[in-house]
Amino acid sequence: MTRFEWPTLLWGERTITVLSDGLQRLDGGAMFGVVPRVLWEKKLAPDDRNRIRLGMNCLLVDGPGGRTLIEVGSGDKDDAKFQDIYGLERDGGLPRRLADRGAPPETVDRVVLTHLHFDHAGGATKWAEDGRTAVPTFPNATYFIHRGEFEDAMNPNARNAASYLERNYAPLDEAGRVRWVADGDRIDGIRIFETPGHTRHHVSVGVDDGEGRLVVFLGDLVPTTHHLPDPWIMAYDLYPVTTLETKQRFLARIHDEGWLCAFVHDADYPLSWLKRDGRGRHMRDEERDPWGG
Ligand SMILES: [Zn+2]
Repeated sequence: MTRFEWPTLLWGERTITVLSDGLQRLDGGAMFGVVPRVLWEKKLAPDDRNRIRLGMNCLLVDGPGGRTLIEVGSGDKDDAKFQDIYGLERDGGLPRRLADRGAPPETVDRVVLTHLHFDHAGGATKWAEDGRTAVPTFPNATYFIHRGEFEDAMNPNARNAASYLERNYAPLDEAGRVRWVADGDRIDGIRIFETPGHTRHHVSVGVDDGEGRLVVFLGDLVPTTHHLPDPWIMAYDLYPVTTLETKQRFLARIHDEGWLCAFVHDADYPLSWLKRDGRGRHMRDEERDPWGG
């Protein structure tokens, strides 16, 4: 079953709704790095092109301080060949989901991006009427981005150039709509945590309920609930050993603080509580329903 949105979560003084920009398909081997296929194919079965189905989940946050979007998916600027390679299936994508909820793009006050890869930041811009100029999708929003991530994205290397497409973020800066973020920043109820590894300046994003309890959007630090075990790290990560260290540190904190996790690429479990097994390993707590209170 394909789902593109989930019930609204009441989170203290805020509401949080998971809205998906759609589905994508990425190479299963690349998604699980050094983990052998005999192990990962039991969790997510690959298609005949060895790709697994993934979500592109975003969070819509409403409450004091206005309306915030955490991530925006791939957007719709890509040509047919690109859409085929990455198996993009968007069905109107995030803009349709927002319109359905009475939250059109011009009502979004801020957009927060964990990093600038196309499947996270592509929806930040759209084609203007001429079909060739990319302009901000959310005309009244401030876009919150780590300056180091932006600089790396503007100077990609041969290994990450396929994911960093200038049309997705350069127009935001040109339009003067970017505000740089760093570790520890608090933007009303939104908190920024530097969580390096996938990229050098990747951030995770917390949504405060007003009393310090967070929903933490982990971005590509832990893209699905299947990536919770230590060695399950994507081959896409530029600094996988750093990912491991960040993951161990940050998941321990999340567990200790009792925070709820949001998983960008998990098509089935976009929100999940964590638990630890007898050996201290983090896993999805399937007995606690995130929407059940
Ligand atoms: Zn990424």
